[in-house]
Amino acid sequence: MPLFDLRTVVLMSSVMPGLMAIALFSLARSFPVNIRGIRQWASGSLIVSASAVLLALRGEVPDWLSILVANAGIMSGTSLGLIGSQLFFGRPVTWRSVAIVLFIGTAGTAWYWLMEDSVAARAACVTGVLALLYGAHGRVMLRYGRPGHSAMALGAMLLAECAVALMRFATVVAVPGRLSGFFQAGPLHTFYLMAGAFFSLVITVGFLLVAMDRLRTQLEQHSYRDPLTGLQNRRAFAAAFEKEREQTSRTGGVLSMLLLDLDHFKHVNDQHGHDAGDRVLVDFAQRTASVLSTRGHLCRWGGEEFAVLLPDMFADDAYLLAERIRMRIADQGPGASAIHYTCSAGVACMAAAHATLEELARDADAALYRAKDAGRNRVEISDQAYVA
Ligand code: GH3
Ligand code: MG
Ligand code: MG
Repeated sequence: MPLFDLRTVVLMSSVMPGLMAIALFSLARSFPVNIRGIRQWASGSLIVSASAVLLALRGEVPDWLSILVANAGIMSGTSLGLIGSQLFFGRPVTWRSVAIVLFIGTAGTAWYWLMEDSVAARAACVTGVLALLYGAHGRVMLRYGRPGHSAMALGAMLLAECAVALMRFATVVAVPGRLSGFFQAGPLHTFYLMAGAFFSLVITVGFLLVAMDRLRTQLEQHSYRDPLTGLQNRRAFAAAFEKEREQTSRTGGVLSMLLLDLDHFKHVNDQHGHDAGDRVLVDFAQRTASVLSTRGHLCRWGGEEFAVLLPDMFADDAYLLAERIRMRIADQGPGASAIHYTCSAGVACMAAAHATLEELARDADAALYRAKDAGRNRVEISDQAYVA
């Protein structure tokens, strides 16, 4: 009596990936639209598991279902997985190659069923095609999924599945006579069926993990970035402040902060419209970033206010930098924004060891207020500022 009833193994093993595929479908519905490919992964997994059920019902359902439809289903479901990954990583989809490979696999299966009935030749067609698809898929995953751990693990699994498919291909080609029936018990054949069941489960779970990983990174990015300007938001700025404060206080250094506010921005909105106002904010962010280059941290503080943190820079140098930003914004030369506008800035500076973000911002804000009061398009230094 065989150790495993292969029909039951194949039947049972199709249930889990099928359930996983349904989970993937519901995930795809709630995912942001820019994350693509998950529907293809879900449909691919579902098709593979439904086809495995048909395969397991060999003898119970018509042969055209359990041979032709089941094998074509496994090959197309596997292709959909590959296409899903190409979409997921924003790569061009290789429709033509996939269609050609699928056509060869399906035509081969049909030929060795209708014209020359041979289980081994059919198995060679299907496993050859599957090996190609797994190999290509593993390559995409390892190449574009870096450095995600789940993508790397999934890529490795796909390559392992490719190796198993190649081994099976080699055995059926080398000793075709050994394979006379699908449920014929033999240790090697049993191993291949069990491996197929194992991989289809692991790979569907892998899709789920890779998708969740992407969602997590995307949410993290969103919670640290201002969507309009792409700059850090206040939360990210506060995190950067903590890091810089710790580092700079160890060496006894200072922290400077600039608060920059666009002048009469309400007029810009009133005269040119809110969208034009948005474009001015983006222009401000870009030009300020180009003055700062890699120095300091620039963030959108809120509305039409921006903040710059300058570790290890005294107030006089911070003032000069703020002046350069002010002049760059007020400059009407080539490359300037179509809408002319100006900005004012307040400069604060504290010893890092005693600095808090609240106090620095309060000092910078008081200086900014003076700059506005004195007529705008100006930079003022806080009275409390630590000068070298
Ligand atoms: P001041 O020179 O005193 O700073 O005057 P102001 O008009 O710039 O300042 P006020 O605080 O009166 O108005 C700020 C305006 O900025 C009001 C608000 O509608 C606008 N604003 C804030 N956030 C955005 C945004 O994201 N897009 C646009 N277009 N406008 C914004
Ligand atoms: Mg303003
Ligand atoms: Mg303001």
